[in-house]
Amino acid sequence: MKKILLTGIVVSMGIALITSCGQTADKPALSEEFTYEVDRFEDISVLKYRLPGFDKLSAGEKEFIYYLSEAALCGRDILWDQNFRYNLLIRKTIEAVMASYAGDRDTDEFKAFITYAKRVFFANGIHHHYSNDKFIPGFSEEYFLQLVSGSDGSLLPLKEGETAGGLASMLAPILFDPSLYAKKVDQSEGVDMIVSSANNFYEGVTQAEVEAYYLSLSDPSDPRPLSWGLNTKVVKKDGKVVEIPYRSGGLYGPAIDQIVMWLEKARDVALSESQKKELELLISFYKTGDLKTWDEYNVMWAENTSLPVDYINGFIETYGDPLGLKATWEGVVDYKDVEASRRTAIITGNAQWFEDNSPIDPQYRKEKVKGVAASVINVAMLGGDCYPASPLGINLPNSNWIRTEAGSKSVTLANITDAKDIVSRGSGFLEEFAYDQAEIDRAVKWASLSDALHTDLHECIGHASGKLAPGTDPNALKNYASPLEEMRADLFALYYMMDPKMTELGLMPSGETAKAGYDNYIRNGLLTQIVRIRPGKDIEQAHMRCRSTIAHWVFEKGFADNVIEVVKREGKTFATITDYQKLRILFGQMLKEVQRIKSEGDFEAGKNMIENYGVKIDKDLHMEMLARYEKLNLAPYSGFVNPVMTPVTGKKGKITDVHIEYCSDYLDQMLEYGKKYSFLPVVH
Ligand code: ZN
Repeated sequence: MKKILLTGIVVSMGIALITSCGQTADKPALSEEFTYEVDRFEDISVLKYRLPGFDKLSAGEKEFIYYLSEAALCGRDILWDQNFRYNLLIRKTIEAVMASYAGDRDTDEFKAFITYAKRVFFANGIHHHYSNDKFIPGFSEEYFLQLVSGSDGSLLPLKEGETAGGLASMLAPILFDPSLYAKKVDQSEGVDMIVSSANNFYEGVTQAEVEAYYLSLSDPSDPRPLSWGLNTKVVKKDGKVVEIPYRSGGLYGPAIDQIVMWLEKARDVALSESQKKELELLISFYKTGDLKTWDEYNVMWAENTSLPVDYINGFIETYGDPLGLKATWEGVVDYKDVEASRRTAIITGNAQWFEDNSPIDPQYRKEKVKGVAASVINVAMLGGDCYPASPLGINLPNSNWIRTEAGSKSVTLANITDAKDIVSRGSGFLEEFAYDQAEIDRAVKWASLSDALHTDLHECIGHASGKLAPGTDPNALKNYASPLEEMRADLFALYYMMDPKMTELGLMPSGETAKAGYDNYIRNGLLTQIVRIRPGKDIEQAHMRCRSTIAHWVFEKGFADNVIEVVKREGKTFATITDYQKLRILFGQMLKEVQRIKSEGDFEAGKNMIENYGVKIDKDLHMEMLARYEKLNLAPYSGFVNPVMTPVTGKKGKITDVHIEYCSDYLDQMLEYGKKYSFLPVVH
């Protein structure tokens, strides 16, 4: 619930300091010495990220990072299987074809197969990582049969007695029939969201059965409720709804055991006693699947704030489940960016001031905003649901009572954000979509800083702000919870961005920074973000629904006062803000209402707000934006390949250093991971 996902379109023009890693470039470099983009296909651009300051870490810190990094990669198969039950079977088939297909590889059809393979690797399955729609191969079913039959049978994931042709025929409808398993997550109104979603969290059960089951487990009077269902698959056994936990010896056990092995090594070289205990709890959780242990672990993890190396490893985010209960597996390893953390320290140092002056109803303010630890970090490794598509910021843990009692950790992923910024500069995007030259100039000068501050405010205090009314069910908002939660954090950031306090605290030199932030938000929410959606489709993704709802709501509420003007010039639509102060007031009013909805669990009001402002797209505008965007030839989504870490060992095998190489071949890394981190059996 608490991630800022990579938005495809970054308009920041900030230029980070670039140092060399001595790689050669086969395309024109975006910087003189480091080419960020390593691959490009369909709507995806794959980048790599740098590890600034890694050399300056101590040998012990590097060793710790190395073990945690291996643990972050070992759960890859889990996510594939969670996304869709046939994903591993499909991936292994693709890997076998790539490794051994004996036919002609210099054809358009084979190229279409490679593109399909790249898309599947990127999405960790056959459904688009962002839209959740199944994508259909750009080659024929007959060709698929030819590919599989022409590959080495010993590499194919065949079951007892199965032929290559049999496997291909079994997979063909799964890959090619657009109506079969069409959506990984289906949150359309009026459908049984469990039955119509293709994800693998539930089998043979209906939404009503699942809801009844979890209702029977939850106790609304429990001040410290467990995250019921977080780490289980729900199935029916002898007519009864039961859960199968993910744990050692249970579902996903073989992959979990590998994660545990690396976590044990990490534990032995942890950077403090409390971090050692914390890892001990995580290991115990993986062994038992006990959610009580998971909460104990999260309390410790949230309280361990001052360490130079940190990580995320577990079943964390619930975007992949239409009911928001089941978490996908993910891993991240990171280390602190000391200089950049100064900015967020100022923000968190004033967290109580922000809370006390917030425009929300005073009864829903937190008397004490606790432990909003924030730091700017650099990512050292991405795994599971954070790879290759990475978030820009993370705020965890997700459990509400832990956030209240133990606090939460917020991070901005500096090296990931920098890579995106650098690649997007000079893309021609602003020239096409900004209202006028003044807006472009403002963006060039200030958008980088306003983006960073928006992320900081959103993550460090936005999500941490506010509280529920006594007795409110934290799950009352159901499928609207995620977009509403993102709205709350975004509105908090937008409201305070324009506050004189920001300049007073030395966070921005002038109000121009905030104006650039407003320009960007409105332009994106009203116009440009829909370029990521195919014609005829609705907005589905939580962060996109959030931005659309906010932008359209303030547009409508400020319409009489002409706060935001939408104009057409030569057939092109533009938006411009005519009164920034009035817009700020509208953001404040909306924040108040969204906080009320959350605090009171007002499902109907939340649903109406999202459905009325955040879901539907004007058809003509959509076609226009897509056409204008296509001319720019940009990829709307991006993700990252990881660096390659090689430990250097000294006497007695002790790791004395970790050598970093930047991978420049996306498919190489995918195939390498397929060999190295493949621990789960395939399902036929
Ligand atoms: Zn968020």
